[in-house]
Amino acid sequence: AKKQGRSTYRFYTDALTRAAGEHLELEIRLRHAIGANQLRVYYQPQVDIANGHIVGAEALVRWQDPERGLIQPVNFIQLAEETGLIGAIGEWVLRETCRQGAQWIAAGLPFLTLAVNLSPHQFMRGNIVELVSKVLTETGFPADRLELELTESALMAQEEDAVKMLHLLRAQDIRLAIDDFGTGYSSLAYLKRFPLDILKIDKSFVDDIPFHQDDMEIAATIIAMGHTLGFKVLAEGVETAEQLGFLQAKGCDLYQGYLTSPPLPAAEFEKLLRKK
Ligand code: C2E
Ligand code: CA
Ligand code: CA
Ligand code: CA
Repeated sequence: AKKQGRSTYRFYTDALTRAAGEHLELEIRLRHAIGANQLRVYYQPQVDIANGHIVGAEALVRWQDPERGLIQPVNFIQLAEETGLIGAIGEWVLRETCRQGAQWIAAGLPFLTLAVNLSPHQFMRGNIVELVSKVLTETGFPADRLELELTESALMAQEEDAVKMLHLLRAQDIRLAIDDFGTGYSSLAYLKRFPLDILKIDKSFVDDIPFHQDDMEIAATIIAMGHTLGFKVLAEGVETAEQLGFLQAKGCDLYQGYLTSPPLPAAEFEKLLRKK
């Protein structure tokens, strides 16, 4: 039994050492990726439910690794958040998105809103208000075309500071969205204190429409509540015509989802815009 215990232990530490090693290797590769121009921004259309027009896009980061191919955010965003690398990644995504947006405007494409995700780390530790105004000046992208997506946890963590920062961003004409709504702990009372423009219903409440009555009621309630507070409501992860029909009937304003398009490389998103 003792022998077995020891080999189990050894197996366990070996596995831990290996996991730590892989973690470190990934961190080193990611750190390198930022400078080596291996990050990409993909754009997912945001659609006006009333008329089907593309009115904007969410910028979503990808990592084009020369050896491993295209790496999805689920495989590196958390590590980036833990190591603080998300600061550099987020800044790069913001700058690249604004640069691309300014180019689309110059090319005469329909006037879009581009939404960029802000991580809790960026929001709390970075000098986000200054960074955003610096990037807008550098790129010439208009402030009122930029939307920043924040999660409930980022807002709740430092409520007083968050309210102040949001007001400063709003004063620059930047639009603010709360992401993944319904998955955190925010209450109506909280939400009322934040100067937000858009509430994004989390995909998990959209997935089971029209099969789960509970989720349908939650989605309908979030739409009504968002409107009561003066926000526009966007549904995430819309994949079927049934889901879209339900959301439309409940007065939802905007949606994103595979029903229209997955996130696309800039050139393909541009083609989609020109086709419409
Ligand atoms: P998110 O902000 O909630 O982004 C929406 C995610 O849902 C995206 O995954 C998008 O591709 C996916 N999605 C959209 N419509 C559908 C659909 O109809 N069906 C399905 N199955 N999925 C859909 P993605 O691009 O893999 O990003 C995952 C998460 O990684 C994002 O969730 C966000 O939390 C994070 N992320 C991505 N880019 C950035 C970034 O630049 N900065 C930060 N801080 N986080 C990012
Ligand atoms: Ca988002
Ligand atoms: Ca989301
Ligand atoms: Ca999400």
